[in-house]
Amino acid sequence: MSAVHSAVTRRLDDGGSAARDPLTVARARALRMGIDIGGSKIEVVLVEHGRVIALDRLPTGYGARQVLANTAALASTLAANVGLDLADIGAVGVGIPGAIESGTGRVRHAVNLGIDDLALGSELSALLGVPVRIENDVNAAGLGAFHALGLARNASIAYLNLGTGLAAGLVLQGTLWRGSRGTAGEIGHMPVVQDGPLCACGQRGCLELYTSGSGLARMWPAAPGQALAELHKAVAAGDRAAIDVHRTWIEGIASAVRALVLTLDVDSVIIGGGLSTHHPSLLDEVRGVLTEWSARSSFLKMLDLPSRVVLPPTGLPVAALGAALLGEPR
Ligand SMILES: [Zn+2]
Repeated sequence: MSAVHSAVTRRLDDGGSAARDPLTVARARALRMGIDIGGSKIEVVLVEHGRVIALDRLPTGYGARQVLANTAALASTLAANVGLDLADIGAVGVGIPGAIESGTGRVRHAVNLGIDDLALGSELSALLGVPVRIENDVNAAGLGAFHALGLARNASIAYLNLGTGLAAGLVLQGTLWRGSRGTAGEIGHMPVVQDGPLCACGQRGCLELYTSGSGLARMWPAAPGQALAELHKAVAAGDRAAIDVHRTWIEGIASAVRALVLTLDVDSVIIGGGLSTHHPSLLDEVRGVLTEWSARSSFLKMLDLPSRVVLPPTGLPVAALGAALLGEPR
């Protein structure tokens, strides 16, 4: 486990006394804890007045029982390290991949975590002794990125997550938008190539097959997690096939941006997720494709797509931050 909490421990002890001190308890009520359960690590943050003041991490583990136990252990450890009783904290929120049953906090089909069905909200709440809100991880990241960028309260964004899959978190006029069945923003499963390869969803030619981490690995097979690095090497060496695959990948991202703006007319599309952080020139390349398309269409040119694509602030755990802010009144 990392040890980034020592400075924060001091900061929280500034009040000068133990966690049960009334002043400290009052301060704890204003704190929010956010937890991001990812494929490889769980990240936990403490947020005070919208600012991350403590952070810790732990490997996720695999399967419902292990993920639950590790999440509870990490939350308890962080609270103990800063001298807080978890029961005093104002709010705890969790972002996790999978289909979330809104209201109950039940998680289904979190395939990468080995979770088929887990009553995460109630079970984690029982372990921590505090109510817990559960949200889809991409939605949580969208909320966190919205906040981290310091946008106007009534701004609208789409957070395009380039992870193993491809999906967008939508914050419309400052409020997370889940849709009527919780599937808003699942643009990875829009078919874009008729009779294309079979997708895990049962359709053919889905955008995710060309634009996500798994799509990249499909188009440019390499050791796990190495597809983008290997592709870059081949592009740098002038490999024609690699250049074509790279172009397909960037065009897929640009298509997603265009679809999100045409559907929702959001102020910005924020490109996040694991793939974006390992590709420094991504923003310029996506903007380049959008600029090419705009040169051929006065309609697209009017939409000013290149200037509406942005990256989230670097170094901020946006998904954990967003999880901490779940349910916060606007
Ligand atoms: Zn699909």
